[in-house]
Amino acid sequence: MAVAWAVEPQRSVTILGATGSVGRSTLDLIGAAPECYQVEALTAQRNVDELAALAVKHRARLAVIGDPAGYRRLREALAGTGIAVAAGLEGLGEAAARPADWVMAAIVGAAGLGPTLTAVRRAAMVALATKECLVCAGPLLMAEVETSGAVLLPVDSEHNAIFQALRGEPTESVERLILTASGGPFRGRTRAEMAGVTPREAVAHPNWSMGAKISVDSATMMNKGLELIEAHHLFGLEQDQIEILVHPESIVHSLVAFRDGSLLAQLGQPDMRIPIAYTLGWPKRISASTPRLDLGRIGRLTFEAPDEERFPGLRLAREALRAGGAAPVLLNAANEVAVGAFLEGRIGFLDIVAVVEAVLAAGTDAAAVSLVDIMALDACARRQAEALVAGWPEASIGTA
Ligand code: NAD
Ligand code: MG
Repeated sequence: MAVAWAVEPQRSVTILGATGSVGRSTLDLIGAAPECYQVEALTAQRNVDELAALAVKHRARLAVIGDPAGYRRLREALAGTGIAVAAGLEGLGEAAARPADWVMAAIVGAAGLGPTLTAVRRAAMVALATKECLVCAGPLLMAEVETSGAVLLPVDSEHNAIFQALRGEPTESVERLILTASGGPFRGRTRAEMAGVTPREAVAHPNWSMGAKISVDSATMMNKGLELIEAHHLFGLEQDQIEILVHPESIVHSLVAFRDGSLLAQLGQPDMRIPIAYTLGWPKRISASTPRLDLGRIGRLTFEAPDEERFPGLRLAREALRAGGAAPVLLNAANEVAVGAFLEGRIGFLDIVAVVEAVLAAGTDAAAVSLVDIMALDACARRQAEALVAGWPEASIGTA
């Protein structure tokens, strides 16, 4: 008997942050099976040439450059292609509002919040890489997902691992989550040894290839602090139910501990195309020629407790989550400014977390409920962090 296979309809996709590390990995998967996808919109902040090339290659309908200064060049580059062009915050909003079935939210930082909310509000399937959205606006974003009926698919490898392990499991059977952390490039260093590290050393992650900001976050381990807050909002567990475990090989991407004593983990090579593929095919798994794991060759997997003395960003993130309200917004915004200042050589590596701590200590009673509240707090924390960086005592740079 002949078997009639149902032809899968094409999935229309939009990628916010298409020129970044996650954006490129997403387009790599899409480019391997172009018949399965219609690319609706692609966005980038400044890289006009790469955005234009990607838009042509993937036959996008719309290309958006975040920085309006790039608009004219993008329009010229795409003249005659039939690809629509837009720019600025409005253009980013339009990209998110277009009716794509699936949206990859991969803009770095709180700048991704507005477009991500736009995609959520029109009930799209939103693959969320931009963890800063959940850090600064977790309650708001999750409430919008609930009311709109959008599907939120975690891309961050740890949260994707937990999402996979939780499939079909009721929340009440979960005892705790275990987020694994590579420990970053300075895992074994003392604070004195970390004091003088350069941006180049800090972005050289031992296992993962990622954008500059998240690479520095991994080096300070603030990344794991941000991920703790992200996990709390995504999976609805209290912070004392979320553990952090250093696993230098980055093969076990995270684990769920259940009430009966079972642990479920997801394993794979440290390659973002694997968690991205899980969200791209959702609710099905797609075939992908991602690197395969050979456990026999790896032989040993190791685990150790994190050291919050040497990496105080973890403690600060826990404190911010416990305090709630404005604190996580301040933590995130101050961290974005401090990481930027470190990458520009304006402050030392250990100063990053010191700036965040100082902004958090100043605190505020302002509300962090609506998007307007959050953007105002974010701007205020950025100004405070900038002022601290500008007046940062020379002498403290590079001290342990
Ligand atoms: P990246 O720096 O490589 O790329 C960022 C993208 O966002 C680029 O396309 C850039 O043009 C765009 N962009 C930058 N600033 C913008 C702005 N102000 N407005 C609009 N667009 C802007 O970053 P990445 O490593 O791909 O990370 C993206 C997000 O995904 C981050 O939030 C990161 O924490 C998260 N994430 C990344 C990885 C990874 O492996 N790279 C893993 C997990 C989570
Ligand atoms: Mg991660």
